[in-house]
Amino acid sequence: MKPILFNMTDGELEQFITGMSQPKFRARQIRDWLQRGAPTAAVMKNLPETLRRDLDAVAQMQPVRIVKKLESADGETTKFLLELADGEQIECVLMRTTYGNSVCVSSQAGCAMGCRFCASTLLGLKRNLTTDEIFAQILVAQWELRGDAMRDRPVRPNGDPNNNDVSHIVIMGTGEPLQNTENVIGFMERANREMGIGWRRITLSTCGVVPGINDLIKWGRPINLAISLHAPTDELRDQIMPINHKYKIADVMAAADAFTALHNRQLMIEYILLGRRDQDGETVLFNATQQHAEKLAQLLTGKNCMVNLIPWNAVDERDFASPSGNAVHRFQDTLIKSGVHTRIRRERGTDIGSACGQLRLNSARGK
Ligand code: SAH
Repeated sequence: MKPILFNMTDGELEQFITGMSQPKFRARQIRDWLQRGAPTAAVMKNLPETLRRDLDAVAQMQPVRIVKKLESADGETTKFLLELADGEQIECVLMRTTYGNSVCVSSQAGCAMGCRFCASTLLGLKRNLTTDEIFAQILVAQWELRGDAMRDRPVRPNGDPNNNDVSHIVIMGTGEPLQNTENVIGFMERANREMGIGWRRITLSTCGVVPGINDLIKWGRPINLAISLHAPTDELRDQIMPINHKYKIADVMAAADAFTALHNRQLMIEYILLGRRDQDGETVLFNATQQHAEKLAQLLTGKNCMVNLIPWNAVDERDFASPSGNAVHRFQDTLIKSGVHTRIRRERGTDIGSACGQLRLNSARGK
């Protein structure tokens, strides 16, 4: 396996470069390119051509390599299938929004959580990603946005939609971030320090790993927390999310409340609306009836939270169906009438990505 320059410390990189009979200052130039997401040495314009060729022959620049890049028809969403040094594949998504450029990163190769509606967990967990491997995903997006164009200023958080920098991060890709808490925290620290991405522009989504939420409380940074709830009662949640056998809804909500109270932040609740097909092929609501909406409203009334209703992305292997638009709107109305802030999540890039984790799954199956 070739050495990965991005993973080296400044000292190691300097040693590597002087070992190739190059002056020290080249290490700094190379670091600058790596930090902008340069995928190869070939693009490093201020290096001599022979050095660029030699470097690409003996080393890999980034810990991830793009295997596939898909663009949505509206040009807003780019989805990447990336390969790690050991051949594992992960996905990340760049979303150009009105409030900035948001990147959805994966925290694990695969997932052990076993949620019944999700594609990411179908092949189980392969391994945790390192801090470098998570960080490299936002550099892929950064390179996509800006490439080798010179920056007129250092990367800064900025809501300006014309800004060509990554401004927001959502940790909602493959994997359960709170099963890899140390590396995920290391990643957030780095994104904040090296890319200038503010804590309030980072959102971490968890299926409800209570000790991990407590670790975030101890860590003390005011990021946004999202809980994948998907059911208003333990009885129902037990059927679709195995983690619920370990941490019950009341425990998860208590930990989440402690987190949001500490930082005075709004809690995000994710709720996929699921149906099932009966024998006649009709869709029967699974967690999306009027009663479910009322139970959810009871659970959330009085909390500082926002419910994101998520249309289910169809996964062939999974035995669910998407409810009709009417059912979704009725569910939302019930919540809103009870005073619970709710919005329906816009689907992005469905034309390219299919469901979460589906690219990786198809790739593993040689499709
Ligand atoms: N493990 C973390 C983060 C990754 S999943 C978590 O559970 O929050 C990110 C979000 O996508 C979760 O809310 C998850 O439940 C949801 N999700 C998974 N599969 C999906 C699908 N097929 N369609 C829509 N959302 C899905």
